[in-house]
Amino acid sequence: MRKYVIMGVQGSGKGTQSEMLASDLGIVHISVGDIFRWHVAQHTRLGSQVRRVMAGGELVSDEVSGSVVRERLAQHDWNYGFVLDGFPRNVAQARFFLESYDIDAVIHLDLPDSEVRRRVEQRRRSAQCDNCGGPVVASQPREDDTEDALVVRIRDYHAKTGPVLDLFRQKGEYVLTVDARPGPEIVQQDIRSRLGLPAYKGEAA
Ligand code: AMP
Repeated sequence: MRKYVIMGVQGSGKGTQSEMLASDLGIVHISVGDIFRWHVAQHTRLGSQVRRVMAGGELVSDEVSGSVVRERLAQHDWNYGFVLDGFPRNVAQARFFLESYDIDAVIHLDLPDSEVRRRVEQRRRSAQCDNCGGPVVASQPREDDTEDALVVRIRDYHAKTGPVLDLFRQKGEYVLTVDARPGPEIVQQDIRSRLGLPAYKGEAA
């Protein structure tokens, strides 16, 4: 059983790295942002609750995000483990998480702010989906993909996520800081070798 948390600012490749990890290890990629986006797209009650907050680049309440994570992990479809992407995002969430679950490592994707901006701008121009890499329909850009929302997210990330990493370290968790600047395959190999996992063999694996 392999249980990981992956953390990194927007554009650091959390989703991509999680998918690559999950692709051949049989572990489940759980993206809290994807769960919220699904609810927004399906117009569920939860979706209408979180839509505005997400569009502003702010965090959904700890209560709501905590219960989403609890419910998702309670499904127990992760016999071989999970990589949790997007949670915890602040100290309160981290405390809740550490009380209820144990993990093997925290994967921290490290990317300078200047590179974050460059990637987000490039993505806007290429109109490629942040999550699946597919084309984005011009009339439907990600609602939270605005300059203001990006500024908020980067600021929030530094203010809230740094202390989360400190807390994990204090609790004796293995925090693995990875340079997220190289291409996705190089980053993935770095993660795997440092976690003692089999090498990534690419799409065909
Ligand atoms: P992400 O795809 O991880 O960037 O998440 C997209 C948005 O979902 C964030 O900007 C938040 O509004 C919301 N969100 C995702 N994870 C959390 C969380 N752990 N706590 C609060 N809000 C979250």
